[in-house]
Amino acid sequence: MLIVNADLEGSPVAIRFDRRINDIAFDLTPRIGEPVFDARGGALLPGLHDQHMHFLATAALAHSADCGDARVTSSGSLRQLLQQHPGDDWIRGVNYHESVAGELQRARIDALIDHRPVRIQHRSGKVWMLNSAAIERIDLQAFADLPGVEVDAEGAVTGRLFRLDDWLRQQLASDLKTDVAALSQTLSSYGITGFTDTSATNTDDTAALFADWRSQRLLRQRVVLMGGDQLSDGPLKIVLDEDALPPLPVLTKRLRRARAAGRALAFHCVTHVELLFALSALDAVEPDRRDRIEHGAIVYDEVIELLREKNLSVVTQPGFLWQRGERYLQDLSALEIDHLYRHAGIAAAGVNVVVSSDAPYGPLNPWQVIDAANRRVTRDGNVIGADERIAVETALAGYLRQPDCLAAPPRSIAIGAIADMCVMQKPWRKLHNAPVDAAVLATFYDGELVYQAGDRG
Ligand SMILES: [Zn+2]
Repeated sequence: MLIVNADLEGSPVAIRFDRRINDIAFDLTPRIGEPVFDARGGALLPGLHDQHMHFLATAALAHSADCGDARVTSSGSLRQLLQQHPGDDWIRGVNYHESVAGELQRARIDALIDHRPVRIQHRSGKVWMLNSAAIERIDLQAFADLPGVEVDAEGAVTGRLFRLDDWLRQQLASDLKTDVAALSQTLSSYGITGFTDTSATNTDDTAALFADWRSQRLLRQRVVLMGGDQLSDGPLKIVLDEDALPPLPVLTKRLRRARAAGRALAFHCVTHVELLFALSALDAVEPDRRDRIEHGAIVYDEVIELLREKNLSVVTQPGFLWQRGERYLQDLSALEIDHLYRHAGIAAAGVNVVVSSDAPYGPLNPWQVIDAANRRVTRDGNVIGADERIAVETALAGYLRQPDCLAAPPRSIAIGAIADMCVMQKPWRKLHNAPVDAAVLATFYDGELVYQAGDRG
């Protein structure tokens, strides 16, 4: 296949590729029958890789109605939330509390909405509540004897399921597939051809699930997983919580075991204490340039040298400055604000820093994340840490790093490279000033066109 009229770092190029890039030249003549994609002068980039996100949580949230939202205060506003939910099939409500509209059983949810299957999860996570359409869809009455399925005096199911998450997930396998495919398509629309799922709960079973979705072509991204001790391949993710730090000997034993199995290490650190704790735990093992600090939300100058010594990459999320910036300004001390989600300051001292989304907790759109790294403005337009701003190119380079070693040079459009690419709607020099407005014209994954913008007019 050919892409013609593309802008590669300011020069017009055409490229020929199958699963890898075979040729790059000023111009290439199509062979008989060869498909040609006209980039119309748009910037050509390697496919983006989100270095830190939680895929399944993002997929779930994208199709959930938040019943715990402050605007949902009564059965009237709950009805409105459900009635206005996009789509025409399943609705998944989350964060419900009975202070909104009382205990929910099938009849009560039917009164709010009965033309679509609905399931609502209690805020505690212990109960799912289904309406009649949902009960019919999964044939719940046939499972009335299953422990956890509530029945009334006549033996009819009430729609309430207690602690049956795994069972319900099995019944809804096709629903999950729809979510996976939809999120994969959203990622493609941003030019994302890979991601690292950083959930500490990932196991070999999760890896098999992702592999299955990829082989079914539901998922059109490369996947790197980190996870716990039950994951054989990929970094060991250690979630530190400064109020409940593990005994150091227990942790170092885990680190040594992971290292012996050839695994890199990744520490979730949002506070100064957590970062110090991670650094001292790392004393127990040989440094490895694949090791990472996730978030690094607070980095004081005194730890920068330690980060550098241990060859740690910091995987940061400037998107939080935009998304939660006002709350940070209200809740954090001036000292913390000055050291929040730093980038330029620690990079200048020789520490490798890359940006990522942490979706669904931070904004998923990489162009919004890149913009946030560059401008560091909150929703209300306040700037947090002006000295920590970085160039748009530097932020983008984070998405182009090799996912298995963030310290290695970024991927590039080069002969022999895997044909994961995106074409932007504009040349790079025009995107540079406002990356948040960047729009992708087309995304190629493994040599195949997986996304094309609708309005090519
Ligand atoms: Zn995360």
